[in-house]
Amino acid sequence: FSSTSTPITATLFPGDGIGPEIAESVKQIFREAEVPIEWEEHYVGEQIDPRTQSFLTWESLESVRRNKVGLKGPMATPIGKGHRSLNLTLRKELNLYANVRPCYSLPGYKTRYDDVDLITIRENTEGEYSGLEHQVVRGVVESLKIITRQASLRVAEYAFHYAKAHGRERVSAIHKANIMQKTDGLFLKVHQLSIVAREVAEKYPDIKYEEVVIDNCCMMLVKNPALFDVLVMPNLYGDIISDLCAGLIGGLGLTPSCNIGEGGIALAEAVHGSAPDIAGKNLANPTALLLSAVTMLRHLELHDKADRIQDAILNTIAEGKYRTADLGGKSTTTDFTKAICDHL
Ligand code: ATP
Ligand code: MG
Repeated sequence: FSSTSTPITATLFPGDGIGPEIAESVKQIFREAEVPIEWEEHYVGEQIDPRTQSFLTWESLESVRRNKVGLKGPMATPIGKGHRSLNLTLRKELNLYANVRPCYSLPGYKTRYDDVDLITIRENTEGEYSGLEHQVVRGVVESLKIITRQASLRVAEYAFHYAKAHGRERVSAIHKANIMQKTDGLFLKVHQLSIVAREVAEKYPDIKYEEVVIDNCCMMLVKNPALFDVLVMPNLYGDIISDLCAGLIGGLGLTPSCNIGEGGIALAEAVHGSAPDIAGKNLANPTALLLSAVTMLRHLELHDKADRIQDAILNTIAEGKYRTADLGGKSTTTDFTKAICDHL
């Protein structure tokens, strides 16, 4: 660290499966780039903590609440009863209401499109993922989709705020309100109200707003992703659309995300899961977690470091000499990490 800057403390969850390998890569690259961050590492516990009803300890959650910034590797939820999914625990306990997933074409890595530059913003706390499922009678089950004015407004406000802060031109709300009239209808209504409130306040006069039905949105994204800019949507649609977007630029090994929570919390994480098929084999692509760590740096306004690390990653991929297997290369996680360090 340079002597002038006091290090910032950030929470790090290496996570499961490939998590520890790709987290090691982030730590190494941050050291090489002299990023003024001190990691406070937390691991998923072996027992259920009664205070969180999950394998995540209360101390881990407190660490994120205190530091307000963190990076999370993938967490596989151990199978069994009587506890909550780790991801769900984090989302609920830390009120991580918006999941932001930037998705852009990587120069030098050829896919069908060269001009993808999308931001999906997913409502992260309710919708079909409210965890309210039960059996009505044998052979009939019911799942509740919850949409609230409060959560919709929070994510709407965040989407417009994001668009303005990042010089984006358009926000598209994705929905199926023609069928889901009450739930998606409310989601849209709140976005419209939010727009009106904003126009009155003249806070964001130049951002265009549109509403697109999800099925049509999928077709348009696959045909011409340049038609969209910022997309905001309920939970389930966000889960699906962001994987579709990842596919447009080369897959899950490349796409970062950041969870935004109440009180200014930012918890960055890769979109992908723990990839048990390649765990412990030094094969994982650390790019998604690295670019997530870059979004964390941007949140902290450490733009110089963010730019430097992002350039080193993109240049390494563009050069093509060191690529992991998911991108058609032969490099190990450690070779690829070293190549990025050399670019720094
Ligand atoms: P989850 O249920 O946690 O979302 P998933 O079933 O979607 O998990 P992932 O763990 O995301 O599965 O993996 C999907 C596929 O993508 C696997 O074949 C995995 O090996 C591959 N994959 C995921 N992340 C990476 C990565 N960082 N590098 C290389 N391959 C990856
Ligand atoms: Mg998945």
